[in-house]
Amino acid sequence: MARYTEASCRICRREGGKLFLKGDRCYSAKCSFDRRNQAPGMHGKHRGKPTSYSLMLREKQKVKRSYGLMEKQFRSLFEKAERQKGMTGGNLLVLLERRLDNIVFRLGFAGSRTQARQLVSHGHFLVNGRKVDIPSFLVKAGDEVAVREKSRAAAVITAAVDSVGRRGVPAWMEVDKTAFSGKIKDMPTRQDLPVTINEQLIVELYSK
Ligand code: SF4
Repeated sequence: MARYTEASCRICRREGGKLFLKGDRCYSAKCSFDRRNQAPGMHGKHRGKPTSYSLMLREKQKVKRSYGLMEKQFRSLFEKAERQKGMTGGNLLVLLERRLDNIVFRLGFAGSRTQARQLVSHGHFLVNGRKVDIPSFLVKAGDEVAVREKSRAAAVITAAVDSVGRRGVPAWMEVDKTAFSGKIKDMPTRQDLPVTINEQLIVELYSK
């Protein structure tokens, strides 16, 4: 499976925002974006005025990298969003949020989406009581996601559950930390998702 090999903090600095790729560290004073907010490389500090194309490209890269997707997966999700009713950009963000690896991260059973993807692939989660080991599985409203009983003692999962208070759980889901499970109350709407994303730029880029 293809994956990003560039250092996570470097990706944040290149995209000009905190993408929360490193779990607990991202919420601490050690965050390298908070300490050195400039693009990587010797010319990072002196970048020229961005063109409209580079703004669109960077927005797409920022979202794609936040969710840890490669171009082919991201593009195919975009095409799915285009086929749905409503605004393509908003549909895309909702589809990204519905991925099982993202849900596991949002519920606080993993410190980052990368870690969530690995845990899902290793079969540590149940959706509505059935094992699902596909990170791209799309969860829907009413679904229940739980850590398998034999995986509840895994140090990586207990550490993530202990630290979820630092980032909180979105209002469209509820979590029961003692039962190691969470429920999707409703699908998120655009208002529930980060305002820092300008999804229209991604739509414009792919429409070129
Ligand atoms: Fe990004 Fe900061 Fe997390 Fe590094 S620690 S991945 S710079 S948010």
